[in-house]
Amino acid sequence: MTTNIAQLLRQASRSLATVSPTPELEAEILLAHVMKQPRSYFRAWPEVVPPPDVCRTFLDLLERRQAGEPVAYLVGTREFWSREFVVTPQVLIPRPDTELLVEKALERIPARTSTIADLGTGSGVIAITLALERPNSQVIATDRSIQALKLARHNAKRLRAGNVSFIHTSWMTPLTQHRFDVIVSNPPYIASGDPHLKQEIRFEPADALIGGHDGLEAIREIVTQSPCHLRPGGWLLLEHGYDQASHVGRLLAESGFVSIECHHDLQGHPRITQAQWSP
Ligand code: GLN
Repeated sequence: MTTNIAQLLRQASRSLATVSPTPELEAEILLAHVMKQPRSYFRAWPEVVPPPDVCRTFLDLLERRQAGEPVAYLVGTREFWSREFVVTPQVLIPRPDTELLVEKALERIPARTSTIADLGTGSGVIAITLALERPNSQVIATDRSIQALKLARHNAKRLRAGNVSFIHTSWMTPLTQHRFDVIVSNPPYIASGDPHLKQEIRFEPADALIGGHDGLEAIREIVTQSPCHLRPGGWLLLEHGYDQASHVGRLLAESGFVSIECHHDLQGHPRITQAQWSP
């Protein structure tokens, strides 16, 4: 029996309805990936019957998706700030919330030469986006995962971001010579016992998600290390959990930061806190 594109997509979205809030879209993304065609192709050619090997690969991906694997890992890419980044299961999948962190960081980064640090860069989305949006700046991105750095370098090369360099370290440990205008980070901030870790995010690296028993371990370290790495008047911007804003604000105030301000994500959760270093 032959199955055309329209029928394949209908069956696929039915089978994804239990795992996905957007089954039609996900079915199209997976089929587009397998057929190496844009999604618009399906609108133009719904009657086309894909070859058997395409159908097999597609069904295989559907099965993995039904078992909970995230689409970004299945297709190997994710869009961030309108650019395509390669992602693998070694790095966190970039989130729309993190675009708010980038937006707020850009407001603090003047078009003149500036130096920026992105701590725990993962796939490199934040560092590379800032580097491309502010071509006169120099961006340093760190991560303690060699595999993440390798992927981040690959993304920087693909997107031709020449003004970003990558350093293998935990947060900022060997960067003693550097003073930055802006430090940004989307650190791991989920508490180790959080039941969310059993959901779909279980496919993402624990190191990128878990911030110790209360979720604040990495944030504490970054807030403590940042004053010696910021120019007077420089800014620290952090992404954090929806229920961590008051903790993060307190930590920043205790370390001597001023102008502490929190921004809400698309769901209305307090998600990004920024603060200025004013010794
Ligand atoms: N900076 C990367 C991102 O925001 C990785 C963050 C992380 O691994 N916690 O996607």
